[in-house]
Amino acid sequence: MSYLAENYKRRNLSFKKGKGSYLFSTDGKKYLDFLSGIAVNTLGHSNPKLINALNSQAKKVWHVSNSFKIPEGEVLAKKLAKKTFADKVIFVNSGAEANEAAIKIARRYFYSIGAPNKNRILCIKNSFHGRTLANIFASGSKKMTEGFGPKVSGFDHFKFSDIKSLKKKITKNTAAIFFETAMGESGIKVHTKKFLKEVRKICNKKKILLILDEVQCGIGRSGKFFAYEYAKVKPDIVPIAKGIGGGFPIGAVLMTKKVSKCMVPGTHGSTYGGNPLAMVIGNVIMDEVFKKGFLVNVRKNSIYFLSKLQSIRNNYPHVIKEIRGIGLLIGIKLKVDLGNFINKLTENKLLTIKASENVVRILPPLNVKRKEIDLALKIINKVCSEY
Ligand SMILES: *Cc1c(COP(=O)(O)O)cnc(C)c1O
Repeated sequence: MSYLAENYKRRNLSFKKGKGSYLFSTDGKKYLDFLSGIAVNTLGHSNPKLINALNSQAKKVWHVSNSFKIPEGEVLAKKLAKKTFADKVIFVNSGAEANEAAIKIARRYFYSIGAPNKNRILCIKNSFHGRTLANIFASGSKKMTEGFGPKVSGFDHFKFSDIKSLKKKITKNTAAIFFETAMGESGIKVHTKKFLKEVRKICNKKKILLILDEVQCGIGRSGKFFAYEYAKVKPDIVPIAKGIGGGFPIGAVLMTKKVSKCMVPGTHGSTYGGNPLAMVIGNVIMDEVFKKGFLVNVRKNSIYFLSKLQSIRNNYPHVIKEIRGIGLLIGIKLKVDLGNFINKLTENKLLTIKASENVVRILPPLNVKRKEIDLALKIINKVCSEY
């Protein structure tokens, strides 16, 4: 019997080590890890540069309070700002925290300019932003909020990629429009460039802030550092987490100078947020993702992977309904039972994870090798052939 609570339906599988795109189970088997701890292990497992950064920082200083300057965090914030729309950064520890901070910043911004009633956040129905109270009610998902009332108010919802529905839900009290640039958990649903451009225009016209949750699709996962870059739109606030830590818990909120001015001393904080251990890791991830050719390679591998998956779909239309994705955030929408399909992949030593809408989510490390993609394709093809 386990003393862990039963809030996860855990697979009967555990691992003793990982290397690159592979995980080695405690019972001695080798698995191709194409879920990367859910878009976390950006550089795979046991990356020597990450190990070195963590070990050398561990010998210096682990943690100091945010009441002091943290030079490693100054460096990471500068790197993030120089490479993105952002002017300012707040560090936290997870995606949910980053989203909570983003919501606080949007509200506080309008408060600070004398419009405290402009405080409602407009989100996508059945989205995912993490498991804190505010974020579950932001999601508008019955499943995630059931039994967790009273409801956290202040959130409105529109239909995915539906401009009409969005426009209808905007009121004079709408402070921010808040959604994932490319939706992961909700079934790998990618907004078109046209939609993103249109939303930006509406935000400009109605003086609404645009918050793009890039917790899952950011940090190179989409093939660009941020998925919004494809549409050439500028958000006002971007929460990140997952990939920026490469396996170490980090979250952050990126924002423009205009918005950041409202976050005066005392408005937000986090004990661990931005501690030296986390910051040295984030710095390595940034340096690697921005190495010449890294993101180009993600895009090349994406085109290859998606086109081969499309061929498999064409051969097994009774198994696969649709291939979805952007970069190395890939979904296979099934016609067959999702749990069963994922189990079969696992039996064949390929690890994946489910998403909503009967979708298998595939998230290899961003430095995955072509031959590893080929191996995954072979396994997916084999499993499809068994239906
Ligand atoms: C994972 C995820 C979160 C929550 O991140 P945690 O680190 O689990 O709190 C929020 N938003 C999106 C889009 C995510 O994928």
